[in-house]
Amino acid sequence: MLKINNVYKSYKNGVMANDNISLTVNDGEIYGFIGPNGAGKSTLIKAIVGLHDFDSGSISLDDLSIKNNPLAYKAKLAYIPDNPDLYENIKAINYLNFIADVFKIDLKTRKEKIEKYASLFEIKNSLNMPIKSFSHGMKQKLAIIGALIHNPKLLVMDEPFVGLDPKSSYDLKELLKELTKEGTIIFFSSHVLEVVEKLCDHIGIINKGKIVYDGSFSEVKKDSSLEEFFLELTENE
Ligand code: ADP
Ligand code: MG
Repeated sequence: MLKINNVYKSYKNGVMANDNISLTVNDGEIYGFIGPNGAGKSTLIKAIVGLHDFDSGSISLDDLSIKNNPLAYKAKLAYIPDNPDLYENIKAINYLNFIADVFKIDLKTRKEKIEKYASLFEIKNSLNMPIKSFSHGMKQKLAIIGALIHNPKLLVMDEPFVGLDPKSSYDLKELLKELTKEGTIIFFSSHVLEVVEKLCDHIGIINKGKIVYDGSFSEVKKDSSLEEFFLELTENE
């Protein structure tokens, strides 16, 4: 379980980007995190993955606190940023082996994972090429494969569907559903409301640093689309 409790984060310039955010994501849930530009999505994601600290509140994964047990917490986590910044001059396969080494994954397991996911995303034949020759979508897929190598309990993705072609986007959705069957928690931000509407059991809407909705979409679906609901909640007064 991912538990975020009263997280408050302001930047040095005084911008208050996360204002007392609390939310819980259960094992096997796909949480879609949506909000307008500048609402505070990436700020919360960076706090969840430990890229920056927060002023107050707590974040824990399976009762491991990111502040008290950062290494054990991070060993269970994988993160795919919105713009994967990979080592451009090394071959894709060397990047994957590097990640596998960091997480101490044995040779047999890593080979199976790389084979499975590289085939799924159809980049198996490019693994011996330097990353700088990859398109944005290929880099995105490579980052996803790297993220799955150590069987993370929590997979956090910032705008994962940007830059993926329709087939890869479909494959990623199917893969995410499959991962949840093993109890993996998926937390991702997105601007693509159709994807969120179809894929997520649980959605969170953030506006100006505050959570304005947290719950299942089926509860609100009755008389509006997610798009209408979203626009209503995030309307500027
Ligand atoms: P989102 O990902 O929802 O578009 P962000 O979390 O990136 O939003 O940004 C939330 C707010 O914090 C915005 O007002 C943004 O300008 C501000 N912000 C983001 N990063 C920084 C930073 N490093 N320094 C100062 N302000 C920042
Ligand atoms: Mg962002």
